[in-house]
Amino acid sequence: VKLVIDDDRCTGHARCVVLQPSLFTDDERGYGLVKDDVSLDDDAKMEAAGKAVAACPEQAISIVE
Ligand code: SF4
Repeated sequence: VKLVIDDDRCTGHARCVVLQPSLFTDDERGYGLVKDDVSLDDDAKMEAAGKAVAACPEQAISIVE
């Protein structure tokens, strides 16, 4: 299970980064990036990921199998 950001939807508010810095970073323009080593392998990470999905104003973040 992993996190994916749809680059076509992301408009770079960096809200995901501010809310869940353990899961996301951002590029030089403030566009969200999923950190390389993130795997949603426990309940705490899954809950954090769900909050980020809900908080993204562009519906750009997905949790995929
Ligand atoms: S909150 Fe959504 S739109 Fe904003 S940087 Fe993160 S993925 Fe992109």
